[in-house]
Amino acid sequence: MQDQLKAAVRDVPDFPIKGILFKDITPILQDPKLFRLAVDTIADRQKGKNLKAVVGIDARGFIFAGAVAYKLGIGFVPVRKKGKLPYKTVVTSYTLEYGSETSEMHIDAINKGDNVIIVDDLLATGGTAMAAATLVKKLGGNIAEIDFLIELAFLKGRERLRDYPIFSAIQY
Ligand code: AMP
Repeated sequence: MQDQLKAAVRDVPDFPIKGILFKDITPILQDPKLFRLAVDTIADRQKGKNLKAVVGIDARGFIFAGAVAYKLGIGFVPVRKKGKLPYKTVVTSYTLEYGSETSEMHIDAINKGDNVIIVDDLLATGGTAMAAATLVKKLGGNIAEIDFLIELAFLKGRERLRDYPIFSAIQY
């Protein structure tokens, strides 16, 4: 099953800058069976974890995180790039594979002691997910797992995130 997901990911060389091999997930989204498989692969492993919310990372992470939250019947919390969220926020900055970024989360998005999972499309160096984890921690949340559709294992993001349980559906 995972092989079908892997086969559908499209490699786009030199996007968004030269030297980056971009993993394009849009062919998975276009195929209803594969889109459902991707969402179910993450959602089905959360049973019994007593989760309060799924934290989704701007922007491709939203696609999967929203669907996982719907399937689990729990809330969705967006982590957005700076300046996009309208209410008061907690903020953190980080570096990624191409450039640097600042992430925000609403201050009332998570309550102390809430169990959450964080979902994004792809784990590269781990900076983006670490920023989301930092925001959850700032609000006193507990990270039950960080889930990705794709892991670029050679970039060792998993080591950077070693304080948290990590799951990826497919690896390169
Ligand atoms: P990182 O913070 O280095 O783990 O980068 C992960 C974030 O950047 C994710 O939100 C991905 O969507 C995006 N990203 C990084 N590298 C790639 C890549 N090679 N292909 C597609 N997306 C990527």
